[in-house]
Amino acid sequence: MPKPISLRPSRPTTTLHLSRRTFLALPPALTLLGLSATDSRADAPLLKESDAEAQSMDYREDASKIKMGQFPKFKPGQTCANCSLYAGDKGAASGPCGLFLNKDVAAIGWCNAWEAKT
Ligand code: SF4
Repeated sequence: MPKPISLRPSRPTTTLHLSRRTFLALPPALTLLGLSATDSRADAPLLKESDAEAQSMDYREDASKIKMGQFPKFKPGQTCANCSLYAGDKGAASGPCGLFLNKDVAAIGWCNAWEAKT
């Protein structure tokens, strides 16, 4: 008979206890380190068409300027904002992309890795 699988952790989970003084000191300390408690990518630079990683994926900052036939995979209406790899806020001009991890992409941009959101 197979051994039943336990879903309980093998060790008790650890709880982080912060004193009030430590808790209040965290935001200024994070600011000094250039970090934000809510968004560590707040200052991510915008991907440019001239960047090597962008060129390797035929990234364009404005999909509306792509000429028909310029890129065989491109179809009108495809933009970063409706790509499954885009993680920007709805209505934002730019946001993170799962492909270009250290730079944001334009919501109206496009690249060869475009995949429809499901
Ligand atoms: S993978 Fe999607 S979101 Fe990222 S640059 Fe390409 S089209 Fe835009």
